[in-house]
Amino acid sequence: MYRIISTSRLTELEAHASALPMARAQCDRLEKDLEKEKARAADLTAALETANAQLASLRKHTAAEIELARSAAQRTRQQTNTLITEAQKRAKDIEVRADAKARELWAEIEQLKAQLPDPLPSPQGVLARYENLVGADIDLTLYITEVPTGMTRVQMLLVLLCTGCGDRDEESRYVYDDCPEAREAFLTYEGAKLKRCGQTHAETCRAVTLQNTPAPLRAIAAAT
Ligand SMILES: [Zn+2]
Repeated sequence: MYRIISTSRLTELEAHASALPMARAQCDRLEKDLEKEKARAADLTAALETANAQLASLRKHTAAEIELARSAAQRTRQQTNTLITEAQKRAKDIEVRADAKARELWAEIEQLKAQLPDPLPSPQGVLARYENLVGADIDLTLYITEVPTGMTRVQMLLVLLCTGCGDRDEESRYVYDDCPEAREAFLTYEGAKLKRCGQTHAETCRAVTLQNTPAPLRAIAAAT
């Protein structure tokens, strides 16, 4: 069966038919573009998953590292506290020992003060002088003291004193009269003995004379 189509309709149909290959080609291009976009979307999804996995791993590591750092800090704090406690204990010990030493030294100073004649008799002169190995003087000095009461009246005192280390040696004799004969006898026996001591001390002592330090304190310093 045939249909009668008007000329204008036929022209229209022909135009449509000629446009069909173009439309098909466009459709093919669009399909290809769609495939490309799909592939790109898949790539991006994969990349996103990788990034997410990395982020999760990073978070896990970071948490572990924070925990490590926290426990390390705690250990350091504990060690520091222990060190501080020990240092405080040591400081306390040193303080206690220093106190004891100071008391000991004061006691020795008092003892030495008590041993020195008060007031010191005026020296009659240095009878002999030795130099130790570093040039400090070791003086042998004679003191004459009048004793107001008792049988004897005069004390003759010889003091050998090292100005370097404070080493002190002495001899004394009580006489009725401070005459030249009495002095000569004293110096011949006790004096000779102290001269030998001075000579021996000079050959071994290396102590340097310290300025502004009293001899008793130097003696303590040398003994400690
Ligand atoms: Zn000395």
